[in-house]
Amino acid sequence: TSALRVVGDDAATTAIPNDLQAFWMPFTANRSFKARPRMVARAKDLYYYTPEGKQIIDGTAGLWCSSAGHSRQPIVEAIQKQAAELDFAPTFQFGHPKAFELASRIAALAPGDLDHVFFCNSGSEAADTALKMAIAYWHARGKASKTRLIGRERGYHGVGFGGITVGGIVANRRVYGSMLAGADHLPHTYNREKQAFSKGEPEWGAHLADELERIVALHDASTIAAVMVEPMAGSTGVLPPPVGYLKRLRELCDKHDILLIFDEVITGFGRLGAPFASERYGVIPDLMTFAKGVTNAAAPMGGVVARKHVHDAFMTGPDHVIELFHGYTYSAHPLACAAGLATLDLYRDEGLFERSKALEPVWADAIFSKLKGQAGVLDIRQLGLTAAIDIESWKDAPGKRAYVAMDKAFHDEGIMIRTSGDCLVVTPPFIITENDIAQIADKLSNVIASTAMPS
Ligand code: PLP
Repeated sequence: TSALRVVGDDAATTAIPNDLQAFWMPFTANRSFKARPRMVARAKDLYYYTPEGKQIIDGTAGLWCSSAGHSRQPIVEAIQKQAAELDFAPTFQFGHPKAFELASRIAALAPGDLDHVFFCNSGSEAADTALKMAIAYWHARGKASKTRLIGRERGYHGVGFGGITVGGIVANRRVYGSMLAGADHLPHTYNREKQAFSKGEPEWGAHLADELERIVALHDASTIAAVMVEPMAGSTGVLPPPVGYLKRLRELCDKHDILLIFDEVITGFGRLGAPFASERYGVIPDLMTFAKGVTNAAAPMGGVVARKHVHDAFMTGPDHVIELFHGYTYSAHPLACAAGLATLDLYRDEGLFERSKALEPVWADAIFSKLKGQAGVLDIRQLGLTAAIDIESWKDAPGKRAYVAMDKAFHDEGIMIRTSGDCLVVTPPFIITENDIAQIADKLSNVIASTAMPS
């Protein structure tokens, strides 16, 4: 029949359309998904629920973003109240109080003099905003030749042209032409031979930051605006920074008068047991992006935090003139600001960053003791409440084993996990308990075992 199939305890919200074709899904194998959908219709705290009502552990905090768990009441109420009170106001030449309040809260949370917050709606917009700010900063300082952007292999900075230019994921770049002119890349920091099964930051690899010297020698510092890296590369399978690496990058950027940008879209708001990774590592970038956890993902929001010297370089010229020709209709959208304020309150009131920090050793021990040594496990990387498990590929079918593992995890084990090539990635919400952690490790072990041979 062509009627809607209606299941679950709340028919109005759990209807599954039987035509799945119209939605062209992002970063998805559309044909495989539509042949065997992994659908969720409801979420509460640590769990998703399928339209049939089956409980699924959220092993990925959504997409590394629902850190306090789902549909949390204070955030829900804040959004509802805001929608009734002020649904929208432009922030080009006008303002609304919650935008200023949230900016102040984020500035207070950010380390050092990272004091000025520019809002956008996603991590991709945040990355492109930070790159544009860096180039415009040098222009404002009278050094307009400093336009080159340096990223890193295996980096992910979203999907805008700036982000994919400095990013280092071949699949995200291959078919999109020549990118922005003049970018270059540091080498990535992963070496299985030297780092396999390191818990936390690997000892080997700080010297890879020195590759910046080679890039400067090639292009000259007078052409380079900024270096942009994730403190921990997330999307390419959790690559923690080698001990001392980020400090070294900071020193070299200072030496050559190059801005350092940290993309903290994943690492921000507690994922590594501190408000931001820059605090964990005692390294303050000139610009820092954020998104995801700022609203616990209950509303889209991203942004860039700038240090005082970056912001102040723009505050010149006649004071009726716009200082930075950049912004989005929905920059500091009232619903996102309300969600952000309620989220920061929740993180504080429930001590969730501290909880994330306290759980890190429990998490690492559970993952390592359950999976290290299991057949087919090639490496495990872990930092904060993240873990990535490289599994042996099926012959002649790279990525297929992890795809099947992710599908089985959902349908057979009742857990949402992510993949990156033949790597399984888990990044749970901070509200997990020690019991949940043990369950997650068991379920991972089960799907690794059950995908040992192609079926
Ligand atoms: N930067 C980093 C480090 C990310 O991990 C992501 C998303 O995972 C992005 C940027 C892009 O964020 P969005 O998908 O919100 O555009």
